[in-house]
Amino acid sequence: MTAPEIKYTQAFINNEFVNSVSGKTFVTLNPSTSEKICDVQEGDKADIDLAVKAAREAFKLGSTWRRMDASARGRLLLKLADLIDRDAAYIRELETLDNGMVINLTTRTIGGIGNDARSLAGWADKIHGKTIPIDGDFFCYTRYEPVGVVGAIIPWNFPAPILVNKLCHALVCGDTIVIKPAEQTPLTALYIASLIKEAGFPPGVVNIVPGYGPTAGAAISEHMDVDVVSFTGSTEVGRLIQAAAGRTNLKRVALEMGGKSPNVVFADCDLDYAVEMSHQALFLHCGQVCIAGSRTFVQEEIYDDFVKKSVARAKRRTVGDPFDKTIEGGPQIDQDGLDKVIEMIESGKKEGAKLECGGKRIGDKGYFVESTVFSDVTDDMRIAKEEIFGPVQQIIKFKTLEEVRDRANNTTYGLAAAVFTKDIDKAFSIANTVQAGTVWVNTYFVGSSLTPFGGYKTSGVGRENGMEGLMEYLEIKTVIVKIPEKNS
Ligand code: ADP
Ligand code: MG
Repeated sequence: MTAPEIKYTQAFINNEFVNSVSGKTFVTLNPSTSEKICDVQEGDKADIDLAVKAAREAFKLGSTWRRMDASARGRLLLKLADLIDRDAAYIRELETLDNGMVINLTTRTIGGIGNDARSLAGWADKIHGKTIPIDGDFFCYTRYEPVGVVGAIIPWNFPAPILVNKLCHALVCGDTIVIKPAEQTPLTALYIASLIKEAGFPPGVVNIVPGYGPTAGAAISEHMDVDVVSFTGSTEVGRLIQAAAGRTNLKRVALEMGGKSPNVVFADCDLDYAVEMSHQALFLHCGQVCIAGSRTFVQEEIYDDFVKKSVARAKRRTVGDPFDKTIEGGPQIDQDGLDKVIEMIESGKKEGAKLECGGKRIGDKGYFVESTVFSDVTDDMRIAKEEIFGPVQQIIKFKTLEEVRDRANNTTYGLAAAVFTKDIDKAFSIANTVQAGTVWVNTYFVGSSLTPFGGYKTSGVGRENGMEGLMEYLEIKTVIVKIPEKNS
């Protein structure tokens, strides 16, 4: 396969592609080879300032964007969805090149963006307030208004889908937006910028500034003229963003962060199905997924069988060139990601978990890791407590429902959870008691732009998707009108 041509490497501000103010650039790497793909303009505080200025100007009263009918805003997003679908084959190759995600997966993720955008676009003229029957001679109603300028900080693990999802939330609500893609994966963001222009959005409504977190990212979270920050990434950086909001203009923050999600497998499950789903729950995108099922709790009656079958499955998992359609797993994102995974594997061995398979880096080019399975994992081990973000499965033994309910919640995270059982009572017991924003019963990873998504505890602040997700991008105004007594 020939590598896709790189068409855009500049920042996108006010509908123009521009160089960074400082003239600096940074390198984006191909994680499969550790080699440079290209140089990208490196945005910093000065560039974020320009982008926020453009976004504020576009949001001014009387601007084209503010005066646009809600239905017309929705149609612009539908146009963008069509353009993304038109170019999906190119975008998925670019995503695979920059991120290392296997082409089978980018075919699904990029192929799904258009419909997600269409679904979100449908909200544009269906966001409305209420009338409220308060006491007295008053007519009381609420208006849901756009908050203003949104700052979106994007992670590298699902670059294009997360970017488009945040963008659609902001735009259906009538906000304008400044987006910073992750420094590891700026390329699909900049291509999508060209589609924003082609779709016909007014200048300044969408601005995309590539750059690093502590510089460009922090400039967004500290900006006095950004009204909301929507962030997806690590809990550590989420804390910095919330603190920056508190120090500056108390901007609203919506944070989608880390997880250590429990996946509870009861003895009465369909064993082969549960093994396969638990494998996918962890190994999809080489474990680089915030909702990965990274604590696999298995009931003792089936524990040995489950481990044996899981190890056999992990050994069959194909890892290699992400452009090869038969490959299930590509590289980790970068050297830091690789080092973290290897360090966690070493800690698992040291703390007494049993390494059933894998455990090592593959080759010395790119950032590939063997599919790794640990058994005899206990709750106090680091591999059972900390996010690994790698292809490393932890299989933990439990005895009873009551015990596993407590152990599943014994974590600072609360993003997702799953349960595999044929007993409806056990399924509801887990679903109702686990502290997690999403729970799956006999499935994993299912979700949609209609379903609220987010985390309990340190996994999140706020929700994305569904009407609940849109509320992060809206202000609620209450209007109370005195009316003559005779009219009430
Ligand atoms: P990961 O550890 O998975 O790379 P991060 O939380 O570090 O996730 O990164 C997610 C996003 O947050 C990236 O776009 C990154 O550039 C950005 N980021 C990193 N540090 C900061 C920071 N101090 N302030 C704002 N954004 C940041
Ligand atoms: Mg890259």
